[in-house]
Amino acid sequence: MNSGASGSHWKVPFNRSSLQGRELDYIMETIGVGQIAGNQTFSRKCQELLEQTLQIKKSLLTTSCTHALEMAAMLLKIQPGEEVIVPDFTFVSTPNAFALHGARPVFCDIRPDTLNLDESKLDSLITPLTRAIVPVHYAGVGCELDAILEIAARRQIAVIEDNAHGLFGKYKGRWLGTFGDMAAQSFHETKNLTCGEGGALLLNDPKYIERAEIIREKGTNRARFFRGQVDKYSWVDLGSSYVMSDVLAAFLYGQLEEWPRIQANRKRRWELYHRELAGWASLHGIRQPVFPSHCDPAWHMYYLILPAPEARQSLILHLQANDILAVFHYQPLHRSEYAISRWGESPPKPVSDYVSDRILRLPLFNSMTDSEQGLVIDALLRFNPAGSRTIS
Ligand SMILES: *Cc1c(COP(=O)(O)O)cnc(C)c1O
Repeated sequence: MNSGASGSHWKVPFNRSSLQGRELDYIMETIGVGQIAGNQTFSRKCQELLEQTLQIKKSLLTTSCTHALEMAAMLLKIQPGEEVIVPDFTFVSTPNAFALHGARPVFCDIRPDTLNLDESKLDSLITPLTRAIVPVHYAGVGCELDAILEIAARRQIAVIEDNAHGLFGKYKGRWLGTFGDMAAQSFHETKNLTCGEGGALLLNDPKYIERAEIIREKGTNRARFFRGQVDKYSWVDLGSSYVMSDVLAAFLYGQLEEWPRIQANRKRRWELYHRELAGWASLHGIRQPVFPSHCDPAWHMYYLILPAPEARQSLILHLQANDILAVFHYQPLHRSEYAISRWGESPPKPVSDYVSDRILRLPLFNSMTDSEQGLVIDALLRFNPAGSRTIS
């Protein structure tokens, strides 16, 4: 899980957020102008950068990815009892945003290769109550979007991409986040590009833009007022307060401007892990990540899948003994206490269960140094899972 994963007392922490460009200059600039609420200069710059780079109709900065997903649920006018299909192996926010509006999450098992939602299971999960599919591009590798979009179109269901891991990754040459009706981005400190806490809603269909602006602005038509399209603003629909402060947008713009360098650096670290660990991993039956040739990953994380839960636990302890923090990931949602108490038991999800018990994420962050990554690689190469011995 994410909490506590960024502790700074480790020689190599799991994550460490850092300045990547002109964040501090931009923060001083927005403060200097005296306008630090949302929708100011840096918020607009971030939105324009996302819209122009990704070639999307509209992007709206939000207070988090979770809130962007909640906006998606409101834009779809999700009603109590309707169903939303989500991968079983994802962060709680993916289903929670829809459950908050009364939807029943239907958990879909994942593919054993990419750990993404298994599109071959979708047809059997769709019912007359299904309103949306929410694919997550796990670790920044695209889901099988052609198949997902075909099923969604045939059954007239919306696709909302939870693109928290996938910003600047591609599927068949096209940016992740531009395939579904909408996509949610995260700028939480654990993500590739960050402002601490933040997100964005990407809209690919112009029909959603006006209501999205209203929902984000407490149910008012304030956005139209500021564009001079109405002479006063008032309460016109349900909404909430999902606008990001320009102070955070200033920080975010400092990072977004640097995205090509940040992504290239992450790719280099990912490939270094992959290359240096290949022989050791195959010797010990440890699975390295894979991605299909039609996907350009966003290089969000580097993980290993250990042959058994005990091997993972001893590897975590071995790394800790070397002052390195590596962490596991999501618990299968279908087995969560809340899901069972609310919707009852759901059918087994063998792949999600298997991966959840065996996956280990290695430190990978923008300010990681060569010597830090070298420490992780050296420590891993000294570990023999068969003997489950800690050699430090
Ligand atoms: C991080 C994450 C979220 C939540 O992002 P916040 O910006 O913290 O709300 C949602 N979905 C996935 C897949 C994530 O990794």
